[in-house]
Amino acid sequence: MWGPPPQRHDNESARPLLDPFGRAITYLRVSVTDRCDFRCVYCMSEDMAFLPKRDLLTLEELDRICSVFVAQGVRKLRITGGEPLVRRDIMTLFRSLSRHLASGALDELTVTTNGSQLARHAAELAACGVKRINLSLDTLDEDKFRKITRWGDLAKVMHGLDAAQKAGLQIKVNTVALKGVNEDEIEALLEWAHGRGMELTLIEVMPLGEIDGDRIDQFLSLSDVQTRLAQRYTLDETDERTGGPARYVRVRETGGKLGFITPLTHNFCESCNRVRLTCTGQLFMCLGQEDAADLRTPARASGDDAMLRQAIADAIARKPKGHDFVIDRRHARPALSRHMSVTGG
Ligand code: SAM
Ligand code: SF4
Repeated sequence: MWGPPPQRHDNESARPLLDPFGRAITYLRVSVTDRCDFRCVYCMSEDMAFLPKRDLLTLEELDRICSVFVAQGVRKLRITGGEPLVRRDIMTLFRSLSRHLASGALDELTVTTNGSQLARHAAELAACGVKRINLSLDTLDEDKFRKITRWGDLAKVMHGLDAAQKAGLQIKVNTVALKGVNEDEIEALLEWAHGRGMELTLIEVMPLGEIDGDRIDQFLSLSDVQTRLAQRYTLDETDERTGGPARYVRVRETGGKLGFITPLTHNFCESCNRVRLTCTGQLFMCLGQEDAADLRTPARASGDDAMLRQAIADAIARKPKGHDFVIDRRHARPALSRHMSVTGG
């Protein structure tokens, strides 16, 4: 871990970040790398071109930008990617950011991972104050797992999951619902996740980035999945919201929680509390819009945080009211050209 971070805050007291629609920005998702050790079919093409290393924010720059957000009222940080746990020395960032948990400035530091590196990092994540993690897993079948992730090894992920549970981390499993691929496995995944004391959240495929296959073929409507599940289980509605596109039900038979993320609907935008930082320092104010603000230039231009704070304030002032995703059914093109691995899932 590098030495104590310099106190860069001037005397100007930090104001909470409010967007033009009065929404407080309290949640920052941070992609720390665009690289990954998997090539999930809905996320990446097999021959992805990755960003040159010099374009990436250093771990120190990531820490500094996150810390400016925390000083301005962000209460939750999610570290994502690409696969965040493949970035070299990533635990340095977790160790450093954990000071904001210790000071009470941050409520939650969390991570979204494919699980491949969890076996070696789970205990230290827990030691850094990480309490909950999201694990992405679309199937329990080894061959299918290989087909979906192209390069992944299910046994390794399961090993990581065991380590995470042993370290006391709470786990939410995220499953992308894929037509004709894992739609027949949803019940099995639900029983398995709830049986191990984990939440399960199903995600609809989003039109982000060029991939090799056809997303219209992959698309499975979660309202159809929910209708089917309701024939077998009692799904009790909850009014729990996260400020994001997830809805939750409680499954009476298993006692576990089941989430549905339907990003193509936009009825959650009114309560949106989040922005996303890419690994190159672009700040996206909305997952479904192209507009981004460059935070790397002000971060590199001055060691004082004033320019960075101003760039963040200007960006939040342009946060749009909502998004306009649509899977283009005629042209089968992505609605947005950037990949999820760049913006961070
Ligand atoms: N590599 C990590 C992982 O897989 O958990 C973190 C990054 S990944 C981009 C975050 C989440 O985005 C994963 O749960 C993944 O399944 C999801 N995802 C990726 N591409 C998607 C797409 N086109 N539509 C819906 N979800 C997607
Ligand atoms: Fe990698 Fe996550 Fe994308 Fe899969 S979904 S290719 S694990 S970044």
